[in-house]
Amino acid sequence: MNEFDLAVIGGGSAGIAAALRASEMKAKVCLIEKNRLGGGHVWHRDLMIRSILKEDPALLKETVKDAGVYKEITGRAKGVSSLHSNQLEKQIKTNGVNFLKGTGFVINKTEVGIQTETGQESIRAKAIILAPGSLTRFPQEIPFDNKFIFAVEDALKMEDLPPSLLIVGANSLACLMARFFNELGCRVFLNDGLPHIGEGLDPDLVSAIEKSMKIQKVKLLFGKRIVSIFKDDEQINISLEGGVKFPVHRILFAENHQPDIQDLQVLDLDLRLGENNEIMVDDHMQTSTQGIFAAGSVMGRTPDFCRSRLEGNVAAENALGKLNTINNNEIPYVFESLPEIASVGCFAGQAHHFGFRAVEGTWESYFEQGGEDSNRINELIKIVADKTSKKVIGAQLICEGAPELISHISMAMNKQMKISDLLPVTYTWSPSMQGLGYAIRACHQKLRKGS
Ligand SMILES: Cc1cc2nc3c(=O)[nH]c(=O)nc-3n(C[C@H](O)[C@H](O)[C@H](O)COP(=O)(O)OP(=O)(O)OC[C@H]3O[C@@H](n4cnc5c(N)ncnc54)[C@H](O)[C@@H]3O)c2cc1C
Repeated sequence: MNEFDLAVIGGGSAGIAAALRASEMKAKVCLIEKNRLGGGHVWHRDLMIRSILKEDPALLKETVKDAGVYKEITGRAKGVSSLHSNQLEKQIKTNGVNFLKGTGFVINKTEVGIQTETGQESIRAKAIILAPGSLTRFPQEIPFDNKFIFAVEDALKMEDLPPSLLIVGANSLACLMARFFNELGCRVFLNDGLPHIGEGLDPDLVSAIEKSMKIQKVKLLFGKRIVSIFKDDEQINISLEGGVKFPVHRILFAENHQPDIQDLQVLDLDLRLGENNEIMVDDHMQTSTQGIFAAGSVMGRTPDFCRSRLEGNVAAENALGKLNTINNNEIPYVFESLPEIASVGCFAGQAHHFGFRAVEGTWESYFEQGGEDSNRINELIKIVADKTSKKVIGAQLICEGAPELISHISMAMNKQMKISDLLPVTYTWSPSMQGLGYAIRACHQKLRKGS
């Protein structure tokens, strides 16, 4: 039987990060994936939709006029995924990770079984990481049928483009889908029982996201739960709390995820699970069974690519004998809207909850978007430091390139940098980069004045 230092079950964002980190640490590692490598980020249309939105606006406009173009778009989306998945496979193999295609299950603390197309095999491993991801969980009252009512991960399984679509959710996934289908020419309603999109974000970011959705003419229906769904021959009639009623052609669910643990056969093990079967771990990502770790959305929170990757890294390090913990404050969060929105750490209004005294430097700009329905788009960059230590404790960005910029600020936080450490950075010509430079300067001046 093959022996490894580490076996990772699940080849999504978390599993790939874990396997790569383990191989960097010179461990003998194997990664088991039942479908194609990449998981939700690649195959649940997240990455490919993003790339179509960015690279093919002309194609999107064509869809409005020609129904056949929708099929072309979904076909092209699959192509992007295949390409990316093949690249991932190449990358992990180049890094010395053993890739096993099949469904992994846990036999015991040191043995993993793999069901392949041709039969069953097993391997021995000193430690195991469970990273099988999650799938949409429908509330019981929602008559999910994969025909008129879809899970977000199956969005592109809709055979044709519906004239109208209700997307349920208040997170980044819901917004990405709202943008995508709206651009395809679909009338989009975005609904959730929560009062706003992007719960927990800086209020300035929340209002920017909502503004951008309204500019795109997405109908926002927040703070109202669905009371009833009634399907007739043509349409689905929706009733929300407060007496709001409207018909749509399809519904897409983008909230409530549940761990995908059915194939793992962990129910026989002594693993502590939550009420929706989410795998519980300690601060070191270890489950209640010693030697078995978990990472990614299998732990039951809203799927988040950056968090999954970080958890994969930390789980691998701990499985191989380190004792690291996740620093939640350093995980960048990217929200899908136009202009791009990203944040990390805390915002000024909440810093006191973490024992900081916030000093904020901001930069703001307005520019005119061309075209008939020109709109004023507000760009806003905020950087937050602690008055006592002068260290960077957070940033909130509404600007082009926000997802890229936020990673740098996260790194500055990880390195415990002070605002003054960022002053000598050479900021390139990009307006966002320069805006960040101005915000850093403003923050530094306030710190010097002691305000
Ligand atoms: C439409 C959409 C938009 C999104 N937008 C964003 C966004 O804007 N920002 C963001 O941060 N995140 C976003 N996400 C979420 C992001 O893609 C996920 O958070 C991330 O992929 C979760 O990673 P994971 O590794 O935990 O799970 P997954 O990516 O689900 O990977 C799990 C893998 O394990 C495999 N597997 C399961 N069981 C077994 C088994 N028994 N044996 C072998 N393999 C198994 C699965 O096939 C899968 O490949 C989006 C997701 C979707 C669907």
